[in-house]
Amino acid sequence: MQRHRIVLIAGILAVFATILPLAAAVIYARHRAVEAERAHLVEYSDWTLRRAERNFDRIRDVFRELQTTRWQPCNEAHIARMRQLAVDNQSIEEVGYFAGGKLACTSWGVVRQNVGRGTPDTWVEGGYGLYLNVRPKVSRGGVVIAVDHGDYNTLVNHERFVDVLTDTPMTIGIATLDGRVVAFNGDAPSDAVAKAAAGDGFARIGTRVFASVHDGHFRAFAITDRAYIQQRMERELWALVPLALLTSALLVALIVWTSRRRLTPERELEAAIRRRELHVLYQPIMEITTGLCVGAEALLRWQRGDGTSVSPEVFIPLAEQHRLIEPLTDMMIGCVVADLADMLRRERSVHVAINISAADMQSGRFLPILTSALAEAGVAPRQIWLEATERGFMDAAAARETLEKARAQGHLVAIDDFGTGYSSLAQLAALPLDALKIDKSFVDAIGREAATSVVVPHVIEIAHGLKLLIVAEGVETREQEAYLRAAGVGFAQGWLYAKALPATEFLAFRAAANGQRVSPFLTSLAG
Ligand code: C2E
Ligand code: MG
Ligand code: MG
Repeated sequence: MQRHRIVLIAGILAVFATILPLAAAVIYARHRAVEAERAHLVEYSDWTLRRAERNFDRIRDVFRELQTTRWQPCNEAHIARMRQLAVDNQSIEEVGYFAGGKLACTSWGVVRQNVGRGTPDTWVEGGYGLYLNVRPKVSRGGVVIAVDHGDYNTLVNHERFVDVLTDTPMTIGIATLDGRVVAFNGDAPSDAVAKAAAGDGFARIGTRVFASVHDGHFRAFAITDRAYIQQRMERELWALVPLALLTSALLVALIVWTSRRRLTPERELEAAIRRRELHVLYQPIMEITTGLCVGAEALLRWQRGDGTSVSPEVFIPLAEQHRLIEPLTDMMIGCVVADLADMLRRERSVHVAINISAADMQSGRFLPILTSALAEAGVAPRQIWLEATERGFMDAAAARETLEKARAQGHLVAIDDFGTGYSSLAQLAALPLDALKIDKSFVDAIGREAATSVVVPHVIEIAHGLKLLIVAEGVETREQEAYLRAAGVGFAQGWLYAKALPATEFLAFRAAANGQRVSPFLTSLAG
């Protein structure tokens, strides 16, 4: 379950880590492309506006020039001046003079036809009337713009307002501030032109985008195909996609690395301790002669969330290797007190054996924790036996100090799995011990022709010589029990009596096995 979850979460994260940088690259590329095209269009709108203003300045200059002199209307000098101005000024095709609401003369000469003045389509600040589409009656040229001011007017080609060169195909145009198109240059559809002329900003219409700007006289706009944004975006993506792929690869590598770390057995154990997936079982210890249950060995169990369990033979060494054993020992002490303190207070001859790891023995850190837990619960130190393995004695001095302190406080100390390591019987004599546990491998050899079977009587003999209590482990048959009883072994533990049990089952087992009986031997031991 836990593994599945880590793998599943890592998978989901990896998918996001792959997609997100690419999505971000696309969004950013689009943003940059839109911004760049907007700036591009605004730049051309500005240019167009300046071009139109320059053009209009020249037209104004012509009006000013003509109005500052008092002409004899339509005499030769007046007409010559108008002609000269029209020729000199590139923007202006023709200059006209009105008298009494009728066109009296133009830069071409005196007008004989009857040409009225009409009403301007719109006005530009300063009293300039604009006629947007005028077909000249005198020169008979193409459609032009007429600008009207005072007694004069000028005819101007539309192109003069919008002759700006662009680097990419676009439609540029000039409109009045009330949204009437003065001139435009390009192939944008009329709805796009009308919308661009109507207001400022940057927007899209159909397959086009436009930007519009204005000043005190005109609004200028530039319209282009949205395909140019697409092209810009593709160029941006060429730069951004490798970066996004690199980011994705780094993120995925990070996810794989962290989940692999989380999947290592030690991380899993750490998480299990945190999630309280470990619990304690109690295997009864029997007095062989009386059949009384005199105590239990507390054994840790790890059941994973998915129901599978991990053997202590696997996770205890793992915990020792990765400095997780101390929290495990603390947890064990807490569980024993919580599960059995009531019974231990009532039955002073009953004990619980706790396994102490090499690290615990060396640091001695567990002892004050145990002492205060027992004091609080009213359990006597005598009732807690400490099982130390041979390996625990490797740093002999520190281990000895811890165990001597423990014995001084009243605990009984047993050597566990004796004979499976390298300690000799002689070394055994030098250790601060109260009890010896005969390992299951020796018990298994009883009654067989195995080489170990000859060792068993020696171990028992030496233990007797050292006045140690003896507990035989892994007793599975009546024959083994009979042999042990005959050899004077006091206590036994094994599947013959019970497997390791949950606390409530252990309490029931003990009650059923003992009734009102108590062990006189252990009672004397308990003092
Ligand atoms: P151990 O202290 O020698 O524990 C005795 C082991 O023999 C236990 O295995 C127990 O379940 C098993 N056993 C008892 N009777 C029989 C039997 O009749 N037949 C068979 N086949 N097996 C029997 P378990 O619980 O797997 O524990 C293995 C070892 O893990 C323990 O050996 C002990 O060294 C360590 N361990 C368990 N709990 C703790 C703990 O809380 N702290 C530390 N430091 N070590 C622990
Ligand atoms: Mg043990
Ligand atoms: Mg053992």
